[in-house]
Amino acid sequence: MNQILISLIFIFNTACASKKIIIAHRGASAYLPEHTLEAYSYAHALRVDFIEPDLVLTKDNIPICVHDIHLESTTNVEEIFPKRKRSDGRWYAVDFTLKEIKKLSVHEREKKSKKRVFSQRFPQRKSNFKVPTFVEFIELVQGLNESTNQTIGIYPEIKAPEFHQKNKKDITKVVYSIIKKYGYENKNDEIFIQSFFPKTLKRLKAEFKTRIPLVQLIADDSWGESTTNYSNMMTRGGFKDISNYADGVGIWLTHLENKSLSLEEIKNANLLVHGYTHRPETQTKKRLNLYKKLDGIFSDAPDTLEAK
Ligand code: CA
Repeated sequence: MNQILISLIFIFNTACASKKIIIAHRGASAYLPEHTLEAYSYAHALRVDFIEPDLVLTKDNIPICVHDIHLESTTNVEEIFPKRKRSDGRWYAVDFTLKEIKKLSVHEREKKSKKRVFSQRFPQRKSNFKVPTFVEFIELVQGLNESTNQTIGIYPEIKAPEFHQKNKKDITKVVYSIIKKYGYENKNDEIFIQSFFPKTLKRLKAEFKTRIPLVQLIADDSWGESTTNYSNMMTRGGFKDISNYADGVGIWLTHLENKSLSLEEIKNANLLVHGYTHRPETQTKKRLNLYKKLDGIFSDAPDTLEAK
């Protein structure tokens, strides 16, 4: 290959790598109840680059869009099915068929943080938002892409694969088959797949031979997200290991602000860095500078993000 061509490829790759992406976190969740078709539509109208659905399975193995493996934080399940909680007092999505889940209405989290109480808007427990399926989500995004002539991508998160396995369910297999069916297959397709579970991402590569870019989410060990040791992940060796099976990391902004963790170190491991989560009330000057250095940002309110 001649030298000019090599240089051109390098410039092209650098230009592609430097495009910062904005990911609508749970849809435009600062404005509408998270993980509803309304929140996804609004995110699309805000012209984000990607829209994020979190996925769990129903009893009949249908991936639905909700953040938690249980339903009571964002739906009225306790009113509709008062007797269907487990002994720990929680209503699990895997215990309900899709037909049953469609009877529920979605509401805002009662308290998202100390600064944000959303219970007054979209009159709590009166509005008729529904839990969408993953298929409904994809068809919405692809339909809007066609009607608005855009190429907004999807950024699905495979939730709690170990929990699903304990309940005799293979969420990774079900979700991946839908992703393929809807035409997402290659490295440059408008999709990332994310998970907190390294085993799940490694399996997508080894068993499903995926070419889709994968993002390793990194939690704080204190959250008890999984049995993974995330502190070990956030080291030079840890990032190098991740680069063997993933294309990027999704990292908590607070971890990035911690001086012991260097952004350069992650980038040196050839990993994209997507930070979570931008919210208007935590958009400090210091954070704005941080956002500028990232390859992507998850945001609840993408229209207020000034770092593009
Ligand atoms: Ca998520």
